[in-house]
Amino acid sequence: MAISMKRPQGTEDVTPKQIYKWTTVERIVRETAESFGFQETRIPTFESTDLFLRSVGETTDVVQKEMYTVKAKETEFTLRPEGTAGTIRSMLQNGLLNDALPQKMFYILSCFRHERPQAGRLREFHQFGVEMAGSPGPASDAEIIALGKAILDRAGIQNIVLNINSIGCPACRADYHKALREFLNPHREELCETCQTRLEKNPMRILDCKSPICSKIAADAPLILDYLCDGCQTHFDKLKEYLAVMKIDYVINPKIVRGLDYYTKTVFEFITTDIGAQGTVCAGGRYDGLIEQLGGKPTPAMGFGMGLERLILTMESQGCEFEQPHTCDLYLAPMDETAVPVAMQIAQGLRASGYQVEYDLMQRGLKAQMKYANKLKASFVIVLGENEIRTKQVALKNMQTGEQTELRLDDTFEDKFDDIAIQYLFHDVVEEFEKECLE
Ligand code: ATP
Ligand code: MG
Repeated sequence: MAISMKRPQGTEDVTPKQIYKWTTVERIVRETAESFGFQETRIPTFESTDLFLRSVGETTDVVQKEMYTVKAKETEFTLRPEGTAGTIRSMLQNGLLNDALPQKMFYILSCFRHERPQAGRLREFHQFGVEMAGSPGPASDAEIIALGKAILDRAGIQNIVLNINSIGCPACRADYHKALREFLNPHREELCETCQTRLEKNPMRILDCKSPICSKIAADAPLILDYLCDGCQTHFDKLKEYLAVMKIDYVINPKIVRGLDYYTKTVFEFITTDIGAQGTVCAGGRYDGLIEQLGGKPTPAMGFGMGLERLILTMESQGCEFEQPHTCDLYLAPMDETAVPVAMQIAQGLRASGYQVEYDLMQRGLKAQMKYANKLKASFVIVLGENEIRTKQVALKNMQTGEQTELRLDDTFEDKFDDIAIQYLFHDVVEEFEKECLE
């Protein structure tokens, strides 16, 4: 029968064969974030559509073209296209900003954007993200960037460039918008339809447009860096100084404006050329206006999102190491039904001591079981035949060396069938096994 059920376009399966890559990066991001004093937070998969309109911004690609908005009965929601809006909403709703500042949190979550699927661009993708709320100074910008860098370093990624820019505050942006409109106005007719409306509402968005014609027109546009007010300029200079202190290399890229509306002052991206066109692995910036915009007290904040699919793609392309999954420590091969309860007891005892133990559940013969044990990459095998059960004498076979160690099963195991502290009954087995494992 033909397979009729296929996953939706732009989504991915992670099979057990691939999962070790995900557990590796998830461990790296968690441990690194915790080493910077960030704590994990979890938020709903969907939020009110309005939250994203008011934060991500009505003139952005994400809101105009990419949102998954779902209707259930009378209510309408949107699957989160990113994590910042929901995290800030959660901070406000739970009163976290009344606690000691700065609030520092991270998340690992799925995001949903209706985009054209391609390598490194999915419709359901995963982000690791951090948000820090309450600290206005450039030291926190440097801290956020340092956290991103530390993760990339721990992942073993080398060929990646930190691009930084400042997009100023509403004060310096007024002059800039004026200059930008003057520059773009003569090209109004050539711009894509979306950008024509952006010209009035939010001309800086045009610089982020993915259409080749708009990008070409925008190539010579005036640069925001030439319009920074004194405050934003000092902030940017200080950030550069702190990055130098931490020996974090960067390039200034005045073309980076970021695709979401809430950014102010510092914006940055870590970009690699190793995974094709979608090379931005990590992107973020300061968003001093967002918390107030969402109904909180004016509170400066800063964060980034890191695309985990792109992180893994980069690690793969650079031959970075992933932690290999733990494989079977001991495979027990019962030769008949009477041996099965013995296998169960040994397995339970050793599992309670933290070992990965499996036994035959397919009623296979010896040869097939040994083949299966090899497939599992089992380190040791014990065959439990009639003879072994009767004499309580078993052989622990080292699958690497082929070496066999004779062991005695404890005499009392039959009486203690229900005892889960079985490792004591099989003291010999456990002790010998542990010794072998430590060697
Ligand atoms: P891009 O310019 O590549 O569309 P963006 O500006 O839309 O990125 P952000 O909203 O800042 O991206 O998201 C942060 C990170 O999440 C990106 O740098 C990228 O690593 C990842 N990301 C964004 N969109 C996707 C997607 N559709 N598929 C996979 N990863 C994505
Ligand atoms: Mg995008």
